[in-house]
Amino acid sequence: MTCFRFAPSPTGYIHVGNARMALINWLAAKHMSGRFILRLDDTDKERSKDEYADAIREDLGWLGLDWDGEEKQSERLSAYEEAFNHLKAAGRVYPCYETPEELDYMRKRLRARGLPPIYTPPSEEKLQSYIDEGREAHWRFKLTPGAIEFEDLVRGAVHFEAEKLSDPVIRRHDGSWLYMLPSAVDDRDMDMTHVIRGEDHVANTALQVQMFEAMGAAAPTFAHLPLMTDIEGGGLSKRLGSLALKDLRADGVEPLALASYLAHLGTSDDIKAEDSLQKLIDAFDFTHFSRAAPKFDPAQLSRLNAQVLHATDFADVADHVPAGVTEELWNAVRANLERIADVKIWHDIAISDIVPVIAEDDAAFLNQAAGLLPEGEPDGETWGTWTKAVKDATGRKGKGLFMPLRKALTGLEHGPELKAYLPLIGRARAIKRLMGEKG
Ligand code: GLU
Repeated sequence: MTCFRFAPSPTGYIHVGNARMALINWLAAKHMSGRFILRLDDTDKERSKDEYADAIREDLGWLGLDWDGEEKQSERLSAYEEAFNHLKAAGRVYPCYETPEELDYMRKRLRARGLPPIYTPPSEEKLQSYIDEGREAHWRFKLTPGAIEFEDLVRGAVHFEAEKLSDPVIRRHDGSWLYMLPSAVDDRDMDMTHVIRGEDHVANTALQVQMFEAMGAAAPTFAHLPLMTDIEGGGLSKRLGSLALKDLRADGVEPLALASYLAHLGTSDDIKAEDSLQKLIDAFDFTHFSRAAPKFDPAQLSRLNAQVLHATDFADVADHVPAGVTEELWNAVRANLERIADVKIWHDIAISDIVPVIAEDDAAFLNQAAGLLPEGEPDGETWGTWTKAVKDATGRKGKGLFMPLRKALTGLEHGPELKAYLPLIGRARAIKRLMGEKG
């Protein structure tokens, strides 16, 4: 069975970039009838917080994702220790003693000589001198020279040469872990068949391919996606504040709109709102992904948000629309909503006093129109009957007929179909407004 995972570090709130990775892993898992695991990469004790883990669960749940299991790296330290000892015994892990400043200096010197800044272990004497000084060891994974190759579901054949990569540090001198080894150990132990992540991880993958080999495990299949940028092409992180999922949620973004957007963005698909996550699952295909970095465009998301609302039945929003919003109102105005909160505007315009907007030379026309408004409370037929009568009586048509009516009745130039909205305004208010009175 296929198995995918989303592996956030609970050191902050997730933003649209993280959510996109989570969603794509989830869609792929569902598409292949596989498993999807939430793995919390919480080895950084200082920065990892339960409140962030809770927020991640809440955000993913809101987006519509579920998971078949949850894992925490902080509870798996013994597995990493065991793998580490195994690799050490096999000569694939070795101690290093350079300080960050010394490493920095070595890199600068190599660069100055036009050489790639690859770590070279010190001479025997130098090493001994570090040990004699009483320095504490940190640990590197020893790469085997030669080609590292893997087939990426999005990038195709990927090729690295181990000689051009530094042996990665996998463990700090205080015994704490860097990302690299725990992630590979987890992917092995949790039987991950696929790892889908950002292309900032491609070089890590090359290193981890050798770790899987060294552990005698098969590497999963990888897919590295270009990272999403903001609309100007800058990194998303600059605008994280406004693109955290919790903020989009508070701003009235519909989960299905966001999921549709994030699933289609950066692919050859049309970017449109789907009416269910199942549609996204059914249509998921790795071959649709493009190699170009997708740009997150809030305006495009708003368009999808509107599409979702236009197709949403009252029953699905009844528990989170503002008080007083009825099914009749919802059906009359949903095609005009960009955010669900906008429904309140139309609710208020229908039932509370507004100042009608009447141009001087429309006053007589509107007066006449008021007199022609059919008796009784307006219903779905009233608008058609009434405007036909007004047209016949005044000779006005098109915009010259409808715009003054709309501005008088709603105080605005744009808005919902008046056929369905007029009944919500009601006869008494409509007449007042047509006569130019507040009402
Ligand atoms: N915690 C890592 C990150 O957020 C996970 C990367 C991975 O998917 O392996 O970058």
